Amino acid sequence: KSVSNRIAAGEVVERPASVVKELLENSIDANSSSIVIEIKEAGKSYIRISDDGVGIKREDLNLAFERHATSKIYSDEEIYDIKSLGFRGEALASIASVSNIEIITRTSEDEFGTKAELMNGDIIRNSSIGCPNGTTIVVKDLFYNTPARHKFLKSNSAETNYISTIVNNIALSHPYISFRYIIDNRNIFTTQGKGDLYSTIYTIYGREVAKNLIEVNNEDGDMKLKGYITNTSYTRGNRSLQISFVNGRYVKSKVISKAIDTGYKTLLPQNRFSICFLYLETPSNKVDVNIHPAKLQIRFRDERRVMDFLTASIKEKLLKSDL
Ligand code: ADP
Ligand code: MG
Repeated sequence: KSVSNRIAAGEVVERPASVVKELLENSIDANSSSIVIEIKEAGKSYIRISDDGVGIKREDLNLAFERHATSKIYSDEEIYDIKSLGFRGEALASIASVSNIEIITRTSEDEFGTKAELMNGDIIRNSSIGCPNGTTIVVKDLFYNTPARHKFLKSNSAETNYISTIVNNIALSHPYISFRYIIDNRNIFTTQGKGDLYSTIYTIYGREVAKNLIEVNNEDGDMKLKGYITNTSYTRGNRSLQISFVNGRYVKSKVISKAIDTGYKTLLPQNRFSICFLYLETPSNKVDVNIHPAKLQIRFRDERRVMDFLTASIKEKLLKSDL
C-alpha cells in the first residue's frame, strides 16, 4: 500500500506548495471561516494548516487517509464541470505517504476531539483530546522517505515563494475567509475575512500596491467582471501582479493577459504589466479548466468575446478616471 501511495504521491505532491494547496482546499471545502497557515524552512520540515471547519469524525479518520476516499461526491458530469476543489480523495493519502503527519480534529457533534499520528500513511497513535471544532494538520519532514524528490527541491527562498503565491491567491479568491500566514515564527499577514476585496489586497500586498488601485465593475450578458486595476503610469518587469480568477479559481490565461495589454495600450501606452486583480464570472460550460489541479490553464470557448469584454471594461474604466 505505501509504495503505490508513494508513486501516486508524485502526481499530487510535487513540492511543499502542493501540500499547502491541497490542505487549504480541504479546509475551504470544510466550510471554514478562519484558517492559519504556518510553515518552517520553506515547508520542508514543517507545514501546519489549522481551520475552524466541520472537522472529521473519529470513525472517519482512517478513511480520510485512504486513497480514493472522498466525502465529496463526484458524478462524471461534475468532474468535467468542476466547481468543487480537491483531487478526488488522493491528497491526504498521498501527503501521508511522503511525510509524518499529526492531525487534531473535532466535529461539533463530538464532545472530544481526536489526535492522531501517522507514519508511512498509517495511523500509529490515536487518542482523545479537548480541542475546538475544526482540523489542524501538521506535515513534518516532507519527502524524508523519497530522497530523489527531496533533492529536487529548490532553495528555501524559492520554495517559500511558491507557497506564498498559493496562499496569496487562495486568500484573494476567498475574501470571506480570514487567512493568517506565518513563516518561520513571523506573522506575514492576517486577512479580515469580511468579504472586502480591497482590504484583502491591501493586507496581502501592502499600501504601495493598494494605493493606486481603482475599482472595475462591469457586466455583459452572462459575463461579469469585478476587481481592481491601476490607473497610474506603471512599469513592472513581469506579470506577477496581474492576477486573475475565473469563477473563483486562480488561472493563467493568455487571453486575459492580452486583453489587459490591449485595454491599456491606447490610454496608457507607456504602461507595462500594470497591476490588475480581475475576477471574471462566466457560465462554467463556457470554459474548459484542465482538470489536473496543478495546472492553472483555462480555455474559453469564445475567446474573442471574453477578450473584447475585458479590454472594453479596462478601457472604459481608464477613460472615466483621472489619468
Ligand atoms: P478530497 O478532498 O478529494 O475528498 P482528500 O484526500 O483531500 O480528498 O481528503 C479526504 C477527506 O478527508 C475529505 O473528503 C474530507 O472528508 C476529509 N478532510 C480532509 N481535510 C479536512 C478538513 N480540513 N476538514 C474536514 N474534513 C477534511
Ligand atoms: Mg482534497
